[in-house]
Amino acid sequence: MDMTERLAKERRARLAAERLLEQKSRELFAANEKLAMHARVLSDQIVVQRSVMREAQSEAEALKGQNAQFVTALEQAHTLAVMAERRLWDSIDTIRDGFAVFDSGLNMVAANRAYLGAFAGLNVGPGISYQAILQLAAERALVRLEGDSPEDWVARMLARLEDEVVEPVVLQLANGNYLRLMDRRARDGDMVTLAIDITEQMRIWAAIEAIPDGFVLFDREDRLLTCNQQYRDIYPESADILRPGVTFEDILRQGLARGKYAEAVGREAEWMSERMAAHRAPSSISEQKISNGRWLRVLEQSTPDGGRVGLRVDITDWKDQQAALEASRLQAEAANRAKSAFLANMSHEIRTPMNGVVGMAELLCDTQLSEEQRLFAETIRSSGEALLVIINDILDYSKIEAERLTLHPEPFDLERTIHEVAMLLQPRARAKGIDLMIDYDMFLPTRFVGDPGRIRQVLTNLMGNAVKFTDQGHVLVRVVGPEGGEGVQQVHVTIEDTGIGISQTNLEHVFGEFNQVEDQQNRKFEGTGLGLAITKRLIERMEGSVWVDSVLGKGSCFGFRIRLPVSEKVPGARLPITLRRALVVDDQFINRTILERQLTPYGISVTLCRSGAEALATLARDSGFDVVLTDHDMPEMDGLTLARNIRAAGHHMPLVLLSSNPFVARDAGADLAAILQKPLLRADLYRHLQALSVTVAAAPLAGPPMALGPRQMRVLAAEDNRTNQLVFAKMVKDIDIDLRFANNGREAVEQFQSWKPDLIFMDISMPEMDGREAARAIRLIEDGCSHVPIVALTAHAMDGDGTEILASGMDKYMTKPLRKSAILDVLEAYCPEEVRPVGAAA
Ligand code: ADP
Repeated sequence: MDMTERLAKERRARLAAERLLEQKSRELFAANEKLAMHARVLSDQIVVQRSVMREAQSEAEALKGQNAQFVTALEQAHTLAVMAERRLWDSIDTIRDGFAVFDSGLNMVAANRAYLGAFAGLNVGPGISYQAILQLAAERALVRLEGDSPEDWVARMLARLEDEVVEPVVLQLANGNYLRLMDRRARDGDMVTLAIDITEQMRIWAAIEAIPDGFVLFDREDRLLTCNQQYRDIYPESADILRPGVTFEDILRQGLARGKYAEAVGREAEWMSERMAAHRAPSSISEQKISNGRWLRVLEQSTPDGGRVGLRVDITDWKDQQAALEASRLQAEAANRAKSAFLANMSHEIRTPMNGVVGMAELLCDTQLSEEQRLFAETIRSSGEALLVIINDILDYSKIEAERLTLHPEPFDLERTIHEVAMLLQPRARAKGIDLMIDYDMFLPTRFVGDPGRIRQVLTNLMGNAVKFTDQGHVLVRVVGPEGGEGVQQVHVTIEDTGIGISQTNLEHVFGEFNQVEDQQNRKFEGTGLGLAITKRLIERMEGSVWVDSVLGKGSCFGFRIRLPVSEKVPGARLPITLRRALVVDDQFINRTILERQLTPYGISVTLCRSGAEALATLARDSGFDVVLTDHDMPEMDGLTLARNIRAAGHHMPLVLLSSNPFVARDAGADLAAILQKPLLRADLYRHLQALSVTVAAAPLAGPPMALGPRQMRVLAAEDNRTNQLVFAKMVKDIDIDLRFANNGREAVEQFQSWKPDLIFMDISMPEMDGREAARAIRLIEDGCSHVPIVALTAHAMDGDGTEILASGMDKYMTKPLRKSAILDVLEAYCPEEVRPVGAAA
């Protein structure tokens, strides 16, 4: 509403009204009242008009206020927008990456600090063109141009902007850092540029390129993400398809089609599925031969994001080395076997003439000699024997090394074997004054199936060492063992001594070859240092184990554990032991305990005494013992004196002396029921106790008469060599047998038929008919009706010979040089019951 207009109009109306009033007052007086009335109406109208005017005025005022408010808001909004933009740029400025905006004409609108910073001092800022920036960068050498001229580079960099989608480009800056430049068109035609620092990434990538192995990375869809140049070089056939996005399977198929995988030829489908399976496994390592003949190790591993990373390592050189190594290993083994075979043959060759040396020296010792001559002859014999021990060790060891050692399991008595070894060692133990004891578990069977020869060898070594390295105290062999299943027994044998012991450091080596503990103390002991090595190998061949415990200066404890099948009991009725009470006298605690354990299971109640005096005192209190078992060698009162004292005290029970030197005891003339050789063989002890049971029952005490058999044992020795015949004859000259010789196999067969010998010693290599043929012929003649024992004599110590010998029908073989004791053992073992027992002729 126009207020001035209204006001003018009003004035005009008022003027007209006044004029009309003048006219009317002049013309129409009468119309005064009417006029007055009109005036009133008009004045009312004025009032109305005034109020309208006031209203309009206040309305205008209000509008004016509103307008001012609007302006302020507008101003505020503007301020905010400016602030927001500043904040945005502040933020963009903090980014390490460069950021710039260009308008559609490619002139810079704005850029962040990082972007501008790259051009510090070069007057780069809003308004400058993209091209000018490129030119500056090129001319000032801010970037490396990779061989381009600055113009070309700028042109190339500009040309990329023409593409619909501008590909990112990687630039290397003068300082070596890397930038990835990404340009994007905005909707209004602006161009946004982002320059990202990828120096770290490039460093890792450079490292991956630098590694000598092929590197490849697939995403979770098994599409190639990247691979290094080495990877391409390894698979030149695939190099052209190795682009990001290609799947692993495609690469394989293409490679297969091009014959890339040498190992896949002819079985492509199968190979493909195996290869894919390996690829999908969480981690796989395999070897691959590629078409150029080189070998790769293929390692694949899943990545945390489900992709797969792979390495291809060229292992061709390593493979070649492996092959060379394997070849030389085989060669070395062959050489080692040849060496062992050579050693074995040599020791065998040395043994043969040693036969003559030792045998003849032994015979020489038996002749009339002066003191000096005897000393010489004894020295020859003992040196020869020492040499033989060494040769035997070497031979055994080489046999084991050459893998030519076979075991010959047969039933044997373990307790007896231990006992026999102990008996052989007894003289040495006795000479040193040490006690040799055997504690064989009462409840353990004694007959097993095993190789008695080899077990004896192990025992001889361990027990021999124990005696050798002990100067006082005792050597105790303990045999125990839990049952090891149906018909099989675990056998634990320990050999404990109180000798010089072995230091902790040396303990680790004692089972090694040629290892002898070198110190002042044991330099005086001789040996090859092979014994324990052989023992260990033998036990291992028996699938057992050996061990040792030792304290230097205190003693050692060697042990072995083997599993042996139990052999069925030897048939034979056992006589009962009717003795009820025994008095055991021994100063040694171990011996007392062993005896007690051996006697109680037979229902014998045992009383133990530590000395003769204690025994006499016990007997004085209580004389009701059925037997007294006393040790021979005791301090203060020895066993023999005790026996005499017992008789002097008027006791009549049988007395049994346990002695490590029965010959001395025998001559002492004490009234003894029996003298038992220590260490005791259980069977021996029981046999005597059984005999005593009978005599005790039959009352009058009398020694068993030594009845002579009807005839001598007939022994045939087939031996072509005169010297050996002589040696053999001399060795058995003291033995009560009837000996004849055959000069070859044929004669042996003839004599077998005509003379019916009880035992034949058969040399293997003889002219005309050798020992094997002769044995076969004899077995043919016997035709299973009878069986004469034939013992082969051979100088051939290598195994295989043994098996072959036994296969020709012989019962046993002995290797030369023969020992008198070994011959005696065989004679005793094969002596038939109906002939006179062999034994040294009086
Ligand atoms: P050697 O023929 O020398 O006895 P071994 O192989 O049987 O060869 O023994 C190797 C070495 O182990 C011995 O020389 C000795 O030093 C040590 N040794 C073996 N048994 C015992 C033992 N019972 N007590 C102390 N030392 C022992």
